[in-house]
Amino acid sequence: MALEESHQLHFLVIPIGSPGHYIPTIDLVKLLAQHGVRVTMVTTPVNALRFGSILDQAIQSGLSISFLEFQLPFMKFGIPEGCESMDDLPNMGLALDLFHAHNSLQQEVEQYIEKLNPRPSCILSSSFLLWTAETAKKFQIPRIMFDGMNCFTQMCNHVLHHSKVYESVGESESFVLPGLPDRIELTRSQLSFAFNPGPRNVKGYSEKLLVSESEAFGVVINSFQELEQEYADAYQKVKRDKAWCVGPLSLCHKDASEKVQRGNWSSINKDECIKWLDSHENSSVIYACLGSISRVEPAQLIELALALESSKRPFIWVVRAGHKTEKIGKWIDEEGFEERIKDRALLIRGWAPQVLVLSHPAIGGFLTHCGWNSALEGISAGVPMVTWPQFQEQFYNEKLLVQVLQIGVSVGAQKVVHLGEEEKSGVVVKSEAFRKAIEMVMEDGKESEDRRKRAKELGKMANEAIEEGGSSHLNMTRLIQDIRNHSSTKNFN
Ligand code: UDP
Repeated sequence: MALEESHQLHFLVIPIGSPGHYIPTIDLVKLLAQHGVRVTMVTTPVNALRFGSILDQAIQSGLSISFLEFQLPFMKFGIPEGCESMDDLPNMGLALDLFHAHNSLQQEVEQYIEKLNPRPSCILSSSFLLWTAETAKKFQIPRIMFDGMNCFTQMCNHVLHHSKVYESVGESESFVLPGLPDRIELTRSQLSFAFNPGPRNVKGYSEKLLVSESEAFGVVINSFQELEQEYADAYQKVKRDKAWCVGPLSLCHKDASEKVQRGNWSSINKDECIKWLDSHENSSVIYACLGSISRVEPAQLIELALALESSKRPFIWVVRAGHKTEKIGKWIDEEGFEERIKDRALLIRGWAPQVLVLSHPAIGGFLTHCGWNSALEGISAGVPMVTWPQFQEQFYNEKLLVQVLQIGVSVGAQKVVHLGEEEKSGVVVKSEAFRKAIEMVMEDGKESEDRRKRAKELGKMANEAIEEGGSSHLNMTRLIQDIRNHSSTKNFN
């Protein structure tokens, strides 16, 4: 026993305070612990309670997971007390301050590592926490990056960085990303933050990120090989075999009570939600949700609402617009919207139990902002998607869904709406465009039928990938073995 314990790997996991990072990181923690790794997760009190409670059962069953809590210096960074996650912020203008607050935990974490003997076997962190690279170097601990992206996106970023092809084109002129397995065309205004930062000057920071990424021991990918084999192979080559596709991570939660806890306290009762879904025919419902941090303007949300209404189909709409939620709520109540659609729609005002909803057979289509977690959750559930990318790498994800996998229909968004600039952008997608895309996904024709079939097949493959013997399960074993090999080589030297 003592010998076994002394060989147990210890991962120190450090996420960044945004649900899109935190949620899959928590899933990853559970999977690592199920593979026999001891995991310590650096967190903050509110986030530990909010995101971490889903692990209570796993911890009670004996998995070796613990939380190391630090208080964020709210006052110092001008953040309201208790706002530890991006979606808690009163406005997106504070996003950078929250980011700096999360970046200020270096000293506390290093003091913790200093007292540990033996040192952690590995630091697994978001690449946005640049200091974790310094800390890993200082203590000679291998660092694994996890930002929850897919290989397709990683390859887009890779070829953009190395070819600099975007530098010689105009904002809305489309160009081909060189050297990818498919002919992928984008415009400069659809690129991710590092290449399209809007008014912010992030050149120095983006470069540091790329260096830090290239120095990392490896990268964990929330995807499965069969989904994007050619891109997974290409990225493996770039990372010299140190990229591990271990997803879909959301599939590590099997029962409804766990799914409903994922990411936040649900704004709807689980049984009420399941009862509503049970009362609808298979594949008949459209589920519309725009992730955790998008702050779409009320005028734009109204266009979406009117399209859902005119679809004449049952739908679930997750209504959230950050600090403007009240305004859209007022429109829903005062314009009689809810009254008109109440017999065939469910409005969730706040946080939806997304994975629970998507995995119900009544769902026939998912209108998504193409955040990768959401997109992969849709893939795992085997549903075709209506794609409305907004920011970060979401336009790449749309290309993957619509062009490469052919399981999505685009609403035709043309450019990134930078976080905090929603008001300035105004209405960018009209009701008619939403309506058409929804119809294409939900109708009975051959094209839609084929799309549905492809989505179902991918859903089946996703579920097989994480089972014992599946590609993601094997990749997780390989990741752990790579760290074990690294630890033993170090001990010999
Ligand atoms: N999510 C959820 N309920 C909501 C909104 C979001 O469960 O009402 C979850 C969703 O399942 C996903 C994550 O929050 O796991 C959002 O991550 P994603 O990458 O899709 O988008 P982001 O929020 O980072 O833009």
